[in-house]
Amino acid sequence: MTRVQRRFRTVAAAVLLPAGMLVPVVPAAPAQAAGETTVIQRKVIGRSVQGRPIVALRLGEPDRPVVVMMAAMHGNEAAPTQILRSLAAGPAIHGIDLWVVPTYNPDGVAAHRRQNAHGVDLNRNFPYHWIRQTGTYDSGPKAGSEPETKAVMRFLRRVQPSRIISFHQPLYGVDTDTKDPAFARRLARALKLPSKAFVCGGVCHGTMTGWYNHRFAGSAVTVEYDAHPSRARLRGKAPRQLLRVLGGWRGDPVASG
Ligand SMILES: [Zn+2]
Repeated sequence: MTRVQRRFRTVAAAVLLPAGMLVPVVPAAPAQAAGETTVIQRKVIGRSVQGRPIVALRLGEPDRPVVVMMAAMHGNEAAPTQILRSLAAGPAIHGIDLWVVPTYNPDGVAAHRRQNAHGVDLNRNFPYHWIRQTGTYDSGPKAGSEPETKAVMRFLRRVQPSRIISFHQPLYGVDTDTKDPAFARRLARALKLPSKAFVCGGVCHGTMTGWYNHRFAGSAVTVEYDAHPSRARLRGKAPRQLLRVLGGWRGDPVASG
């Protein structure tokens, strides 16, 4: 079914409802098309300040190493969401137990701004070296104050990934100033991005990666694309590059490549 057909079906379904009963009819996502889906579980891990759902999609195989990828933690850095949407479409994924959170900060995305609807920078709100900051990097009134932060903390505690990849823009590189710099460098080579050390002026206060890297066995790394990465790079190349570097593959469950 084409996008136009899906939209038409949505409109038709809405129009057929009795007056006063008009509710949005959400069409099946392209990833849900019969025989094509790789999504084995869809979980609403929490709600944003304005009540939007924060959705995690489970791809791949249970009992394999758990990997979490997240995008749009900053609402004006949403292009890498396309990588995660692309991973969630197409043939099934094997070799890893992959969860993707395509839109971490849905209110920020809706408003095209970095912060959530409280004006908080979600990457300064985690309870690790948290300090009160204001302005662009507003850290919130206290550590873990924001519903988006609570949702992601709860989710990560539950699934305990061995690796987290957190996508941002526009600094263009993979952060090697992290818990597993060897993996960061491998990731940089795989994604054809430079290896860089993103030091937040000394100490990174209240970041998700800092919190996870210091409280859990697994490691979290930041990947920054440029301001305007191409569609081909995000939807075509990056998903393949990521699966390869993580030991995953699409298609035949017994294939190894
Ligand atoms: Zn960012």
